[in-house]
Amino acid sequence: SEEMLVRSEKLSLIGQMAAGVGHEIRNPLTALKGFTQLLRSRNQDALFYYDIMMNELDRISLIVDEFMSLAKPHLSEFKETTIEKIVKSVISLLDTQAIMVGVDIELELEEDLPTVFGDENQLKQVILNVVKNGIEAMPDGGLVHISAKRMDNDRLLIAIQDNGVGIPEELLSKVGEPFLTTKDKGTGLGLMVCNRIVDTHHGDLQLFSVKGEGTRVEITLPAMKISG
Ligand code: ADP
Ligand code: MG
Repeated sequence: SEEMLVRSEKLSLIGQMAAGVGHEIRNPLTALKGFTQLLRSRNQDALFYYDIMMNELDRISLIVDEFMSLAKPHLSEFKETTIEKIVKSVISLLDTQAIMVGVDIELELEEDLPTVFGDENQLKQVILNVVKNGIEAMPDGGLVHISAKRMDNDRLLIAIQDNGVGIPEELLSKVGEPFLTTKDKGTGLGLMVCNRIVDTHHGDLQLFSVKGEGTRVEITLPAMKISG
């Protein structure tokens, strides 16, 4: 539709800008970090301020990295892959972080799932961002349940559910807008990156949430057609 076209043009423009600006910011940032570290080691009485400076510089790095991942599509490599491979690799990345905050990650994969056609790294990024949000929504522990099944219309459904803090109704439609975050150390770019990647894979991402109860993220992707 017209609206989707405009949206995807906007996203690709953002992507190109992110790539250019990101490169320009990374180099001076590396120098700043290096010299801050050096000064920190020479000024023992000002450690407190240097720690704040390093923290803030790290935050800028995080934002730049996350923003630059918007700009990657031209490096993308689409091939046949499986949801099982993608999800399992994300779980192994997040296992330690989850255990530390008392979060269990449960996986329920339907048997004989069809394959998908996509970029493994980008799809991992999507699942990673969503599962991370789930973990971060449960500071006192809980459960992230990941399931994948075939839908009847040649699509796969991946659902990621947590029983965390949830999203207030008035915020739900805004979530995914750039820089919208409710976290002290958040960037508000995670879901925006997810939306962009899911778009380029002809998929769909939807959030369902009840404040105080939890959040469910549903991602659908086209199942790969077996040519015969
Ligand atoms: P960030 O995680 O850096 O804040 P995201 O784009 O990943 O940025 O998420 C944006 C916001 O959406 C979060 O700050 C949070 O308020 C809300 N959110 C996303 N996922 C969840 C979730 N599973 N549970 C509760 N809130 C969520
Ligand atoms: Mg996030």
